[in-house]
Amino acid sequence: MVEAVQSDVPSPNVDLDNEQFWGAANMRQLRIGQCTKCQKAFFYPRHFCPFCLSADVNWALASGKAQIYSYTVMRRVDKPYVLAYVQLEEGPAMMTNIVECDFESLRVGQIVEAVYVTSKNGSLVPMFRPIDGHA
Ligand SMILES: [Zn+2]
Repeated sequence: MVEAVQSDVPSPNVDLDNEQFWGAANMRQLRIGQCTKCQKAFFYPRHFCPFCLSADVNWALASGKAQIYSYTVMRRVDKPYVLAYVQLEEGPAMMTNIVECDFESLRVGQIVEAVYVTSKNGSLVPMFRPIDGHA
């Protein structure tokens, strides 16, 4: 199932804490932690709730919709890219890359959606792209 691909995207470091997150990403799903005790959603994935420390957590399917909270265009590299914090519709923030975009037209507060980019080893990495302008 893994094809040889040309990709500059680093492959994820999968470990016991995040394997469900990356497994979901390979199915083009964005999963975030959700505490069944205090009901709060969190990211990054982990085996306990960062708010109440309950181990009673599960992996909720996120909508993939988010808003740009802050971003930086990394220009001093061969292939400039956008590093950003986005706030997911469910509340948690995640660090990610904004792709398929015009760097100059990005703005804080812009609505973005998850896309799944193939990394060096063929596994998929969630990133985000603007949705306004695609309409
Ligand atoms: Zn909790």
